[in-house]
Amino acid sequence: MSDFDLFVIGGGSGGVACARRAAEYGAKVALAEPARMGGTCVHRGCIPKKMLVYAAHFAEDFEDAAAYGWTVGEPTFDWATLIANKDRELVRLDGLYRKLLDDSGVTTIADRATVAGPDTVVVGNRRIGSKRIVIATGGRPQRPEIPGAHHAITSDEAFHLKDLPARIAIVGGGYIAVEFAGIFKGLGAETTLLYRGEMILRGFDGDVRAGVAEGMRAKGIDLRLESNIERIEAYGGGLRATTTRGEVLEVDQVMVATGRAPNTHGLGLREAGVELARGGAVLVDSWSQSSVPSIAAIGDCTDRVNLTPVAIREGRCFAETHYNGNPLQPDHRDVPTAVFSQPPVGTVGLTEDEARAEVVAIDVYRAKFRPLKHTLTGRKETTMIKLVVDRATDRVLGAHMVGVDAPEIVQLLGVLVKLRATKAQFDATVAVHPTAAEEFVTLRRPVG
Ligand code: FAD
Ligand code: NDP
Repeated sequence: MSDFDLFVIGGGSGGVACARRAAEYGAKVALAEPARMGGTCVHRGCIPKKMLVYAAHFAEDFEDAAAYGWTVGEPTFDWATLIANKDRELVRLDGLYRKLLDDSGVTTIADRATVAGPDTVVVGNRRIGSKRIVIATGGRPQRPEIPGAHHAITSDEAFHLKDLPARIAIVGGGYIAVEFAGIFKGLGAETTLLYRGEMILRGFDGDVRAGVAEGMRAKGIDLRLESNIERIEAYGGGLRATTTRGEVLEVDQVMVATGRAPNTHGLGLREAGVELARGGAVLVDSWSQSSVPSIAAIGDCTDRVNLTPVAIREGRCFAETHYNGNPLQPDHRDVPTAVFSQPPVGTVGLTEDEARAEVVAIDVYRAKFRPLKHTLTGRKETTMIKLVVDRATDRVLGAHMVGVDAPEIVQLLGVLVKLRATKAQFDATVAVHPTAAEEFVTLRRPVG
């Protein structure tokens, strides 16, 4: 006889959402998590990252205030205070997640779990039977294989540094690298970003990539493209980073943000018959079911769309399907996403290049303007907004923005793209003035 209907391995965004929803529908659910409840997003991802982003923005706010008549004394920044305040909030969130699980009737086990068969997990030396098992073990940072890689920090350590580095080199051109470049620069570090390709944020719309690169440079980030890290050596009290172009950077920290790997090693999955992809991701079908029918996987360990709301959606769809008689598949199309870089990005749907490849004819609408706030501050900052429209149906296929508030604005653009709104419907909407978002309903002539 099974001890549980469902055993969830991992208490991150996906695991907690799945376990709670299943238990609320009456399933007998256990969840194993050896660390703090909430996983990457809560403890070393989205939440503490956004706190550091807020902190970094104050530097410009103090400067800009002068144009609006304010006199601000010489601002000083204390890294230790920020980290301590952030850590206090994360302890609170751990408690909150535990309470939510308890209130939903989930049995939590504060230990690592592994799979010992299609309906058995092992915790310590205990074998536990469960009708279904959900793997929700997330991912971890990858380090490039270069001499001295151990000298580098990853995002995990960046949240716990004792001191703010005066000089930092960040390696990578994805979400984490560009977000942390903005954080460290805003907090006052001399920041160099090394990216091996010709433009950062591969996979994003071309105007977004160019807009972020231009904005980062305008803020003083030393962005070096087609340049990668080759080796890192300890030098004096700091580090010496040599690039593939032969340049040598003397810095206090090197941060590598070169992708993440699924946490599936040593879980007993292959032995249980679960097929894994080459990089270790659990291979699943559109119901999140693995090659073993009683074992499913959700979130980053499946390496589909590695975002918190997607992990949550996958977990809830699984619970709806199996414990509420409501078959639901997660939809991975048109997922809105934000990069909390400086300037930030909001994006949903097809990029211009993707649309050109998929659709016979498209119209591209674009506007670039200086935000009203900076007409007084004189700050050289622009906002870029863009719509990609199917000429035949008038449907908006993609909406992209670089600039202040882009992450907030794209949430609702996401609804419109999901509803298959047309350009004519955008145009029929009265603007909210004066805002940046109003530009999305006042774009008149296509630029391409
Ligand atoms: P996780 O949250 O990683 O949780 C997995 C859990 O499984 C962990 O708690 C781990 O301890 C546990 N575990 C592992 N092995 C075992 C085992 N054998 N037994 C029991 N438990 C185990 N996404 C966004 O949407 N917005 C953002 O702004 C954003 N910012 C990010 C910033 C950073 C720096 C990073 C690294 C990620 C960010 N993400 C963001 C991505 C987001 O954090 C992940 O997509 C999300 O956390 C995935 O959830 P998950 O449940 O799949 O895994
Ligand atoms: P990404 O996969 O987004 O980016 C990895 C970057 O590292 C790419 O620019 C890649 O280059 C580069 N890279 C990979 N291997 C090497 C190497 N050996 N040497 C040098 N460069 C290398 O990963 P991240 O770590 O930035 O983030 C992981 C995921 O977490 C994101 O994809 C996203 O899903 C999620 N996340 C979401 C956030 C949000 O929602 N705001 C914030 C942070 C993370 P190339 O492009 O050439 O392959």
